[in-house]
Amino acid sequence: MYLKSLTLRGFKSFASSTTLHFEPGITCVVGPNGSGKSNVVDAIAWVMGEQGAKSLRGGKMEDVIFAGTAGRAPLGRAEVVLTIDNTDGALPIDYAEVTISRIMFRNGGSEYSINGRTSRLLDVQELLSDSGIGREMHVIVGQGRLDSILHATPEDRRGFVEEAAGVLKHRKRKEKALRKLDATEGNLTRLQDLLSEIR
Ligand code: ATP
Repeated sequence: MYLKSLTLRGFKSFASSTTLHFEPGITCVVGPNGSGKSNVVDAIAWVMGEQGAKSLRGGKMEDVIFAGTAGRAPLGRAEVVLTIDNTDGALPIDYAEVTISRIMFRNGGSEYSINGRTSRLLDVQELLSDSGIGREMHVIVGQGRLDSILHATPEDRRGFVEEAAGVLKHRKRKEKALRKLDATEGNLTRLQDLLSEIR
Protein backbone atom coordinates (compact mmCIF):
# COMPACT_ATOMS: atom_id res chain seq x y z
CA MET A 1 0.00 0.00 0.00
CA TYR A 2 1.30 3.45 -0.82
CA LEU A 3 -0.05 6.90 -1.59
CA LYS A 4 -0.36 7.22 -5.35
CA SER A 5 -1.63 10.73 -5.84
CA LEU A 6 -3.12 13.70 -4.08
CA THR A 7 -5.31 16.35 -5.67
CA LEU A 8 -6.04 19.66 -3.95
CA ARG A 9 -8.72 22.11 -5.11
CA GLY A 10 -9.32 25.22 -3.07
CA PHE A 11 -7.41 23.72 -0.15
CA LYS A 12 -5.34 26.35 1.72
CA SER A 13 -2.88 27.98 -0.71
CA PHE A 14 -3.84 25.56 -3.55
CA ALA A 15 -6.63 27.56 -5.21
CA SER A 16 -6.33 25.86 -8.60
CA SER A 17 -6.62 22.13 -8.97
CA THR A 18 -3.17 20.66 -8.28
CA THR A 19 -2.24 16.99 -8.44
CA LEU A 20 0.89 15.45 -6.93
CA HIS A 21 1.92 11.98 -8.10
CA PHE A 22 3.89 9.80 -5.70
CA GLU A 23 5.96 6.69 -6.35
CA PRO A 24 6.58 3.81 -3.92
CA GLY A 25 9.42 4.58 -1.51
CA ILE A 26 10.47 7.91 -0.12
CA THR A 27 9.07 11.16 -1.51
CA CYS A 28 10.56 14.54 -0.69
CA VAL A 29 8.65 17.76 -1.24
CA VAL A 30 11.00 20.70 -1.51
CA GLY A 31 10.31 24.38 -1.95
CA PRO A 32 10.91 27.84 -0.50
CA ASN A 33 9.48 28.90 2.85
CA GLY A 34 5.74 29.46 2.70
CA SER A 35 5.34 27.73 -0.66
CA GLY A 36 2.83 25.19 0.68
CA LYS A 37 4.85 22.08 1.64
CA SER A 38 3.13 21.71 5.02
CA ASN A 39 -0.24 22.43 3.37
CA VAL A 40 0.29 19.23 1.35
CA VAL A 41 0.78 17.28 4.57
CA ASP A 42 -2.27 19.00 6.10
CA ALA A 43 -4.29 17.93 3.05
CA ILE A 44 -3.34 14.27 3.60
CA ALA A 45 -4.42 14.45 7.26
CA TRP A 46 -7.60 16.36 6.36
CA VAL A 47 -8.81 13.95 3.66
CA MET A 48 -8.27 11.07 6.07
CA GLY A 49 -10.72 12.66 8.47
CA GLU A 50 -8.70 15.02 10.68
CA GLN A 51 -11.19 16.94 12.83
CA GLY A 52 -8.98 19.34 14.75
CA ALA A 53 -8.45 22.81 13.26
CA LYS A 54 -5.36 23.18 15.43
CA SER A 55 -3.81 20.01 14.02
CA LEU A 56 -4.28 21.60 10.61
CA ARG A 57 -2.55 24.76 11.84
CA GLY A 58 -5.73 26.82 11.68
CA GLY A 59 -8.10 28.53 14.10
CA LYS A 60 -11.30 27.04 12.74
CA MET A 61 -12.10 24.27 10.31
CA GLU A 62 -13.03 26.58 7.43
CA ASP A 63 -9.49 27.98 7.47
CA VAL A 64 -8.60 25.09 5.15
CA ILE A 65 -10.61 26.77 2.37
CA PHE A 66 -8.59 29.07 0.09
CA ALA A 67 -8.98 32.49 1.72
CA GLY A 68 -7.98 34.56 -1.32
CA THR A 69 -4.91 36.58 -2.22
CA ALA A 70 -4.35 40.06 -3.61
CA GLY A 71 -5.04 38.79 -7.12
CA ARG A 72 -7.57 36.05 -6.47
CA ALA A 73 -10.94 35.98 -4.71
CA PRO A 74 -11.61 33.55 -1.85
CA LEU A 75 -13.25 30.24 -2.72
CA GLY A 76 -16.35 28.70 -1.21
CA ARG A 77 -15.17 25.12 -0.94
CA ALA A 78 -12.10 22.96 -0.43
CA GLU A 79 -11.66 19.52 -1.89
CA VAL A 80 -8.92 16.93 -1.50
CA VAL A 81 -8.76 13.58 -3.28
CA LEU A 82 -6.29 10.94 -2.16
CA THR A 83 -5.58 7.84 -4.23
CA ILE A 84 -4.03 4.87 -2.47
CA ASP A 85 -2.51 1.86 -4.23
CA ASN A 86 -4.04 -1.20 -2.60
CA THR A 87 -2.70 -3.97 -4.84
CA ASP A 88 -1.31 -5.71 -1.73
CA GLY A 89 -4.80 -5.68 -0.18
CA ALA A 90 -3.61 -3.85 2.96
CA LEU A 91 -6.89 -1.95 3.07
CA PRO A 92 -9.93 -4.14 3.77
CA ILE A 93 -11.72 -3.27 0.53
CA ASP A 94 -11.95 -5.19 -2.72
CA TYR A 95 -10.27 -2.60 -4.93
CA ALA A 96 -6.66 -2.41 -6.17
CA GLU A 97 -6.93 1.39 -6.05
CA VAL A 98 -8.81 3.29 -3.37
CA THR A 99 -9.84 6.91 -3.75
CA ILE A 100 -10.89 8.88 -0.70
CA SER A 101 -12.24 12.38 -1.08
CA ARG A 102 -13.42 15.09 1.27
CA ILE A 103 -15.23 18.29 0.36
CA MET A 104 -16.04 21.13 2.72
CA PHE A 105 -18.18 24.21 2.09
CA ARG A 106 -17.86 27.45 4.02
CA ASN A 107 -21.36 27.15 5.37
CA GLY A 108 -21.45 23.45 6.10
CA GLY A 109 -19.83 20.24 7.23
CA SER A 110 -17.72 17.80 5.29
CA GLU A 111 -18.74 15.26 2.69
CA TYR A 112 -16.66 12.13 2.26
CA SER A 113 -16.58 9.55 -0.47
CA ILE A 114 -14.74 6.28 -0.96
CA ASN A 115 -14.26 5.23 -4.60
CA GLY A 116 -16.92 7.72 -5.65
CA ARG A 117 -19.52 6.49 -3.20
CA THR A 118 -20.75 8.94 -0.56
CA SER A 119 -19.47 7.73 2.81
CA ARG A 120 -19.41 8.71 6.46
CA LEU A 121 -16.35 9.84 8.37
CA LEU A 122 -16.65 6.58 10.29
CA ASP A 123 -16.36 4.59 7.04
CA VAL A 124 -13.13 6.41 6.16
CA GLN A 125 -11.76 5.87 9.68
CA GLU A 126 -12.68 2.18 9.68
CA LEU A 127 -11.16 1.66 6.25
CA LEU A 128 -7.86 3.18 7.34
CA SER A 129 -7.69 1.99 10.93
CA ASP A 130 -6.06 -1.39 10.24
CA SER A 131 -3.42 0.19 8.06
CA GLY A 132 -1.96 2.07 11.01
CA ILE A 133 -3.19 5.38 9.61
CA GLY A 134 -5.83 6.09 12.16
CA ARG A 135 -8.12 8.69 13.59
CA GLU A 136 -5.39 10.38 15.60
CA MET A 137 -3.02 10.65 12.63
CA HIS A 138 0.06 9.72 14.65
CA VAL A 139 1.73 8.62 11.45
CA ILE A 140 1.80 12.22 10.28
CA VAL A 141 4.43 14.01 12.30
CA GLY A 142 4.35 17.74 11.71
CA GLN A 143 7.06 20.27 12.42
CA GLY A 144 7.71 20.43 16.17
CA ARG A 145 5.57 17.38 16.87
CA LEU A 146 8.52 15.08 17.27
CA ASP A 147 9.32 16.81 20.55
CA SER A 148 5.81 16.34 21.87
CA ILE A 149 5.91 12.64 20.96
CA LEU A 150 9.26 12.18 22.69
CA HIS A 151 7.86 13.88 25.79
CA ALA A 152 4.51 12.02 25.73
CA THR A 153 3.25 10.28 28.86
CA PRO A 154 3.56 6.46 28.93
CA GLU A 155 -0.25 6.24 28.38
CA ASP A 156 -0.06 8.44 25.27
CA ARG A 157 2.92 6.48 23.98
CA ARG A 158 0.97 3.26 24.45
CA GLY A 159 -1.84 4.87 22.41
CA PHE A 160 0.58 5.55 19.53
CA VAL A 161 1.80 1.95 19.54
CA GLU A 162 -1.72 0.56 19.81
CA GLU A 163 -2.89 2.65 16.91
CA ALA A 164 0.08 1.70 14.73
CA ALA A 165 -0.54 -1.98 15.56
CA GLY A 166 -4.23 -1.66 14.69
CA VAL A 167 -5.31 -2.58 18.25
CA LEU A 168 -7.00 0.73 19.01
CA LYS A 169 -10.01 -0.04 16.83
CA HIS A 170 -10.71 -3.23 18.76
CA ARG A 171 -10.23 -1.50 22.11
CA LYS A 172 -12.76 1.19 21.09
CA ARG A 173 -15.20 -1.51 19.95
CA LYS A 174 -14.73 -3.40 23.21
CA GLU A 175 -15.42 -0.22 25.21
CA LYS A 176 -18.57 0.39 23.15
CA ALA A 177 -19.76 -3.20 23.65
CA LEU A 178 -19.14 -2.95 27.42
CA ARG A 179 -21.16 0.28 27.58
CA LYS A 180 -24.03 -1.45 25.76
CA LEU A 181 -23.81 -4.41 28.14
CA ASP A 182 -23.97 -2.01 31.08
CA ALA A 183 -27.04 -0.29 29.66
CA THR A 184 -28.71 -3.65 28.98
CA GLU A 185 -28.03 -4.80 32.54
CA GLY A 186 -29.64 -1.59 33.81
CA ASN A 187 -32.68 -2.26 31.64
CA LEU A 188 -32.91 -5.83 32.94
CA THR A 189 -32.83 -4.61 36.54
CA ARG A 190 -35.62 -2.15 35.80
CA LEU A 191 -37.60 -4.93 34.13
CA GLN A 192 -37.20 -7.14 37.20
CA ASP A 193 -38.47 -4.29 39.39
CA LEU A 194 -41.52 -3.80 37.16
CA LEU A 195 -42.24 -7.54 37.09
CA SER A 196 -42.10 -7.83 40.86
CA GLU A 197 -44.45 -4.84 41.18
CA ILE A 198 -46.96 -6.41 38.76
CA ARG A 199 -46.83 -9.74 40.57
P1 ATP B 1 7.93 26.49 5.65
O1 ATP B 1 9.05 25.94 4.84
O2 ATP B 1 8.19 27.89 6.11
O3 ATP B 1 7.45 25.59 6.76
P2 ATP B 1 5.78 25.65 3.85
O4 ATP B 1 6.29 25.44 2.46
O5 ATP B 1 5.56 24.43 4.68
O6 ATP B 1 6.68 26.70 4.62
P3 ATP B 1 3.01 26.18 4.29
O7 ATP B 1 3.00 26.40 5.76
O8 ATP B 1 2.52 24.89 3.76
O9 ATP B 1 4.45 26.50 3.72
O10 ATP B 1 2.16 27.32 3.54
C1 ATP B 1 1.97 28.55 4.10
C2 ATP B 1 1.27 29.42 3.10
O11 ATP B 1 -0.04 28.95 2.87
C3 ATP B 1 1.16 30.84 3.61
O12 ATP B 1 1.57 31.71 2.57
C4 ATP B 1 -0.29 31.01 3.90
O13 ATP B 1 -0.74 32.31 3.66
C5 ATP B 1 -0.91 30.05 2.91
N1 ATP B 1 -2.24 29.63 3.36
C6 ATP B 1 -2.56 28.88 4.44
N2 ATP B 1 -3.91 28.75 4.53
C7 ATP B 1 -4.44 29.42 3.48
C8 ATP B 1 -5.77 29.65 3.03
N3 ATP B 1 -6.83 29.15 3.67
N4 ATP B 1 -5.94 30.39 1.91
C9 ATP B 1 -4.89 30.90 1.24
N5 ATP B 1 -3.60 30.71 1.61
C10 ATP B 1 -3.38 29.98 2.72
